[in-house]
Amino acid sequence: MDIKVDIRDRVAVVTGGAGILCSCIAKALAAQGARVAVLDLKKDGAEKVAAEIVASGGAAIGLEADVLDKGSLEKAREIILREFATVDILVNGAGGNHPRATTGPDRSFFDLSTEDIQKVFNLNFLGTVLPTQVFGKVIVEKKKGIVINISSMAAYTPLTKTIAYSAAKAAVSNFTQWLAVHFNQEYSREIRVNAIAPGFLLTDQNRYLLIDAETGASTPRGRSVLNMTPMGRYGLPDDLCGAVLFLCSEAASFINGAVIPIDGGFQAYSGV
Ligand code: NAD
Repeated sequence: MDIKVDIRDRVAVVTGGAGILCSCIAKALAAQGARVAVLDLKKDGAEKVAAEIVASGGAAIGLEADVLDKGSLEKAREIILREFATVDILVNGAGGNHPRATTGPDRSFFDLSTEDIQKVFNLNFLGTVLPTQVFGKVIVEKKKGIVINISSMAAYTPLTKTIAYSAAKAAVSNFTQWLAVHFNQEYSREIRVNAIAPGFLLTDQNRYLLIDAETGASTPRGRSVLNMTPMGRYGLPDDLCGAVLFLCSEAASFINGAVIPIDGGFQAYSGV
C-alpha cells in the first residue's frame, strides 16, 4: 500500500493558530503543501505564524478571529474564500484553561464564579462548535472534508482542580462523535470528524500548575503527571503533528468519530 499524506493545495483552517500547539500544526500542514489560514484572537500572532510559513515556501494567511464570535468567524471565512476559494480541513485548536476557573489554595470550588466557569467552558466547547458551524458549512456544501478537534486527557477522567476545562473537553469528545454521525447522515459520507486528545505538554496554559515559578522545579502535580506517564516525559508539539497529518491522510480513510490519545501512555496507566 502506497500511503501519502497528499494534502497538497488543500485549504486548512486552524483556529488558535498562534498558540504553541496549533502554530506547529499549521506549519506541519503547510509543509505538506496545504494552504493554511491561521486564525487567532491575537492578530499579530496569527500574522507572524503565516509569515513564517510563507518565508519557508508555503502558502498561508494570518487572520484575527474570535472563536466565540460568529460574526468575526464569518468575516474570516469571507477572506479565506476570496484568497483560497474553499475549505477542506478544519482544525479546532483554540482552547485552554484559566487559573480563575481552577481550584487551588486561594480559590475553593465554592468561590468559583459563574462567569469564570462559563468563560473556560465556552472557549473550549462553543469555541469548537461555532467555527464548525461557520467553516463546516463550506465542507458540507462540497460534501467532502475533514474536521479535527482538540480534546484532552481531562475528557476521559477529569483532572483535579480544572473543573470547567475537564467538563468542556469531555463535551468536545462527545461533540466529535455526534458531529461525525450527523455530517455523514445528513450531508455526506465523505466527511470525517475526529479529535486528538493530547496528554501533558508543557505550555503557557499549564506551566503554572506543573513548574514552580520561583524554583523552576516540578510541582507535586508535575511530578505526579510524569510518574503517571509511562514514557516519562511531557509531550512535544511535534508529537501531535504526526497524528493530525495521519488523520488528514488517506491512511485514515475509515477513521471517523475517533478521539485519539497522544499521551505517552498516560491514559493507559492505572498508576499500579
Ligand atoms: P496556547 O495558549 O499556546 O494556544 C491557544 C491559542 O488560542 C492562543 O494563541 C490564543 O490566543 C488562542 N485563543 C484563545 N482564545 C481564543 C478565541 N476566543 N478565539 C480565537 N483564538 C483564541 O495553548 P496550547 O497549549 O497550544 O493549546 C492548544 C489546544 O490544545 C487547546 O485546545 C488546549 O486546550 C489543547 N490542549 C493542550 C494541552 C497542553 O498540554 N498544552 C493538552 C491537551 C489539550
